[in-house]
Amino acid sequence: QDLPPFRNEPLTDFSKPENRAAMEAALEKVRAQFDRHYPLIIGEDEIYLDETIASLNPSHPDQVVGRVSAATAEHAARAVEVAYEAFQTWRKTPAEERAAILLKAAQLMRERKHEFSAWMVYEVGKSWPEADADTAEAIDFLEYYARQMLDIEERAPKLVYQIPTERSTYRYIPLGVGAIITPWNFPVAIFTGMVSSALVTGNTVVAKPAEQSPVVAYHVVQLLYEAGIPRGVLNYLPGYGEVAGEALVVHPKTRFISFTGSKEVGIHINQRAAEIQPGQIWLKRTVLEMGGKDAVIVDETADLDAATEGVVVSAFGFQGQKCSAGSRAIFVEDVYDEMVQRVIERTKQLKIGDPVDPTVFLGPVIDTDAVNKIMSYIEIGHDEGNLVLGGKRLDLDGGYFIEPTIFTDVPWDARIAQEEIFGPVLAIIKAKDFDDALRIANSTEYGLTGSVYSRDRARLERAADEFHVGNLYFNRKSTGALVGVHPFGGFNMSGTDSKAGGPDYLLLFLQPKSISEKI
Ligand code: NAP
Repeated sequence: QDLPPFRNEPLTDFSKPENRAAMEAALEKVRAQFDRHYPLIIGEDEIYLDETIASLNPSHPDQVVGRVSAATAEHAARAVEVAYEAFQTWRKTPAEERAAILLKAAQLMRERKHEFSAWMVYEVGKSWPEADADTAEAIDFLEYYARQMLDIEERAPKLVYQIPTERSTYRYIPLGVGAIITPWNFPVAIFTGMVSSALVTGNTVVAKPAEQSPVVAYHVVQLLYEAGIPRGVLNYLPGYGEVAGEALVVHPKTRFISFTGSKEVGIHINQRAAEIQPGQIWLKRTVLEMGGKDAVIVDETADLDAATEGVVVSAFGFQGQKCSAGSRAIFVEDVYDEMVQRVIERTKQLKIGDPVDPTVFLGPVIDTDAVNKIMSYIEIGHDEGNLVLGGKRLDLDGGYFIEPTIFTDVPWDARIAQEEIFGPVLAIIKAKDFDDALRIANSTEYGLTGSVYSRDRARLERAADEFHVGNLYFNRKSTGALVGVHPFGGFNMSGTDSKAGGPDYLLLFLQPKSISEKI
């Protein structure tokens, strides 16, 4: 009750020498911890396996950031059983206690924020500002979900009407064991948000981080234990998706699956979760947040300076590896040529390299699979549009660097305009007018984010009605959703629109119970 109102964690100003020094120190500290071996954590047990997954630095793949044990299906089953046991007590802990742990975790993470950011610079190739924003978002999730849980507790009893002959109450209870399956691209924010939302609502969790970012996830798990989450309530299960992840999805005691990742895996999980296993006595709930092919529209009334910046940052921030990346730019005919020139010129200024250097904007892509996928789309792009910038892999110390790449005159239905590439590749599409631009924007199977640069109020209002995306932005970039400000989630094949960091999110991990007594 005495909690101050929620406020987003401020971003770090790295132009200040003391902040730079703090980040340099964190990078050094983290580097000294490279190549450690990490266990699975199932209840009280820390299990070191011979079969490991090496998490590599994508800027220098010869550097092993850490090796995690690769869980088998049997480990996954054991973790679910342990979490199921732990649920019997954790579900009875008061919401205030659970919320207090999240607030403590937020405080601890704030104290060590540069360390978490440093892990991300090395493990996934984030630039300093991108890593800093990721850590800040994780802190926001902890602060926000703690408050949301308290609000729900307070609100619930007032949600039903009374009749003279009965006393009725309404309360939200947790679901049970959740399989939390996370992506690598926001390895601290999304992991922390998905785990903490399930825990604060009274569920127990088996967390399977992505193969590419299990080390920083381990450190988040340790921080949550330190804040007071009991072992068994949170279990850490690195491993391969098709093995450990799949085993969690199909286990009969798994009650819900909270997943963020690609469309293909999301669809697969949706199908597998729907199969009833022997001994299973519920329908599993699934929260599935998936990919995007997001568009930034620029019309002839727009502020072209702002639009240029927005298009470039949306397309190439974190190398285009965001579900919210503006991988399609749709320019109306009247400003098409000018916008193309401006975007090319601005993109040429982006500095590429190892993001330990604070002046680097564009780091590496995540791994060799990503390089191969992105390069094959660039091949496809040669047939579909005009390559006007980039298009090549860069040989920098063996790292996974790809030039920021721009194709123009891309038909709206080209593969590079329809399919998620998840790399630094921008497809620029010409629209006849604003109507045509809106039609093109809505022409994919996705519906995650979108952005419109226009000064025409009537057009913005039309876009508000007709641009079918979960997160729509006017006169700003398509990325950078803030917890509590821009609840996040998409329509259509972008997922179940869970709206992480929004007022309805925690309800996805709760079930309401109605109790009435005759008086
Ligand atoms: P991914 O390949 O789908 O993997 C996501 C997670 O699913 C990983 O932990 C993965 O494990 C696991 N997995 C893979 N196969 C599985 C299976 N058969 N059963 C259970 N789990 C399985 O996605 P990613 O490459 O990590 O992340 C990038 C994608 O995430 C992009 O499509 C992006 O748009 C999307 N994304 C969406 C949002 C959103 O909020 N909508 C946010 C961020 C990212 P392994 O790592 O071992 O394969």
